[in-house]
Amino acid sequence: DAKFFVGGNWKANGTVSMVDQLCKDLTAGAKQFDPKNVDVVVAPTAVHLQQVKGALGAPYEVSAQDVWIKGPGAYTGEVPAEILKDMGITWTLTGHSERRAYCGETNEVVGQKTARALEADLNVIPCIGETLDQRNSGQLFEVLTAQVQALVDNIQDWSRIVVAYEPVWAIGTGVVATPEQAQEVHAFLRKLFTEKLGPQTASTLRIIYGGSVSDSNCKDLATQPDIDGFLVGGASLKSGAFLTIVGSHS
Ligand code: 13P
Repeated sequence: DAKFFVGGNWKANGTVSMVDQLCKDLTAGAKQFDPKNVDVVVAPTAVHLQQVKGALGAPYEVSAQDVWIKGPGAYTGEVPAEILKDMGITWTLTGHSERRAYCGETNEVVGQKTARALEADLNVIPCIGETLDQRNSGQLFEVLTAQVQALVDNIQDWSRIVVAYEPVWAIGTGVVATPEQAQEVHAFLRKLFTEKLGPQTASTLRIIYGGSVSDSNCKDLATQPDIDGFLVGGASLKSGAFLTIVGSHS
């Protein structure tokens, strides 16, 4: 069974003092979980990465929320994977639905960014998921298959990948997928990855759920056989709720 994984995506939130307090609270709360049983990664904004890296030691790891599609060079405003790596950042998200929706990132762009980050030795959490319209019009599995195919086309080493399934209709809405809805999709994804990558890779690949995960709904989701962890947005800004979610598998 794959090791449980919980990511906290802080999105475009935070002040220096809020980040300072959150890191202090997470540090104090680290004794509430056993890092042998769960990987815990937090993703602050790019400008808070250094502060968080300095304030949060093991067992926590720090992730970027996005990465540039190319290497270092004349790309004003972007942060390439090499710069993250040099700063001690070990993870990045790619293809979060907010980047797909607001920054026009396509499946192909997400695949290429993921490959680039792996090349620079980062671990990557590519995010996939359908909109409500896509689900309601019967395109759920087709949309997910296209998103997965773009990853399969670009990724060679799957040992440093954690796939996040985040249905767009559940993100920031308070409408969490039911454990059955989430399990249905995670099982579908497991089968799809088995077909495309073989049973060995697919059975060890962590597929985590994101979308309105809270300290009250995490337990029922965590017991589903194909849910290997969570990507948490809003609740990751509250250390108490986040640490409850971190401990939800045990
Ligand atoms: P919420 O937990 O706020 O719904 O956000 C989920 C998410 O998008 C994590 O990446």
